[in-house]
Amino acid sequence: MEKDGRIVDGAKIKNERENIALRPKLLSDIVGQDRVKDNLQIMIEAAKKRQDPIDHILFYGPPGLGKTSLAHVIANELTVKVHITAGPTIERAGDLAAILTHVKKGDILFIDEIHRLGRAVEEVLYPAMEDFALDIIIGKGPAAKNVRINLPRFTVVGATTRLSLLAGPLRDRFGAQFRLDYYDQQSMEFIIVRASKMLGATLTAEGASAIARRSRGTPRIALRLLRRVRDFAQIKADGTITGRIAGEALNLMEIDHLGLDDIDRRILLTIIEKFSGGPVGLETIAASISEDPATIMDVNEPYLLQLGFIDRTPRGRVATPNAYEHLGIPYANDDPQQQDRLI
Ligand code: ADP
Repeated sequence: MEKDGRIVDGAKIKNERENIALRPKLLSDIVGQDRVKDNLQIMIEAAKKRQDPIDHILFYGPPGLGKTSLAHVIANELTVKVHITAGPTIERAGDLAAILTHVKKGDILFIDEIHRLGRAVEEVLYPAMEDFALDIIIGKGPAAKNVRINLPRFTVVGATTRLSLLAGPLRDRFGAQFRLDYYDQQSMEFIIVRASKMLGATLTAEGASAIARRSRGTPRIALRLLRRVRDFAQIKADGTITGRIAGEALNLMEIDHLGLDDIDRRILLTIIEKFSGGPVGLETIAASISEDPATIMDVNEPYLLQLGFIDRTPRGRVATPNAYEHLGIPYANDDPQQQDRLI
């Protein structure tokens, strides 16, 4: 998913130059996500031993956590080709059929944003994943014929930020499903230190730690912040990224010490000030700050939930005492129902 430039959004920004050299190539280059890595290691070794394609795999979780990287890593480990596509680009069933005719035995077809595939395309994908066959209709009207073309055994690696939007039957066709979580501080520091070496940037431990803390546990954001902080260090100092320089650069970008930006703060302030702390529906929050509800759901909400700044209740979103504290607003909630819930 490509977006217009918001720094702390884990999705790719339009025209953003991604440094291919920084992409993990093998499983051993992947920092963190140990549970996912351990499982993949076994699947990869078993597939190699049997000389069989690896099972279809689904990765889900917020943007920028490494779903695309993992698809490349699996292909590299298996020394097979990876074909890259995305849900919105496969408009018609024929588009998918055209891609599938280029796929060779063992190849990986990576489908990003797989929840955005149309129904007609899904209908072609089901037999392709299950029976390695392409069912197509040739001709029109009474003369139309159903033709089945056999495909080589291949693997679909799907990625989605919205598991709930994936049709049940499609989801069921993935033999392995992995949720990617936000990275911890230590893993983020490791990713930043390694990237700075590859970029030739000089970084102190405090510098790495400051960038890591504000990267929302998301490698893509960390790499983006690192590039911006490096520019700042070169122009405003001697080029070394220290804790102080990183802090100054990030303050200039209006990213606070937990990685929250202006939109996150506006979401919290809206819940607290306009809706007395909630509960309030996500659509209402989005409308009151003129933001896209989908972005709030994919980018802001998961991170605010992770920080424990908001709670999701059946009646809507609620700001927690931690959110009040972070914004420096005194917490005084008289709603007995909410007090019960928060104890
Ligand atoms: P997604 O597909 O989930 O949006 P990507 O795989 O494109 O995320 O990852 C974004 C960037 O973050 C990549 O350029 C990659 O270099 C880096 N990255 C992601 N995960 C890791 C990781 N575990 N270790 C090191 N770098 C990572």
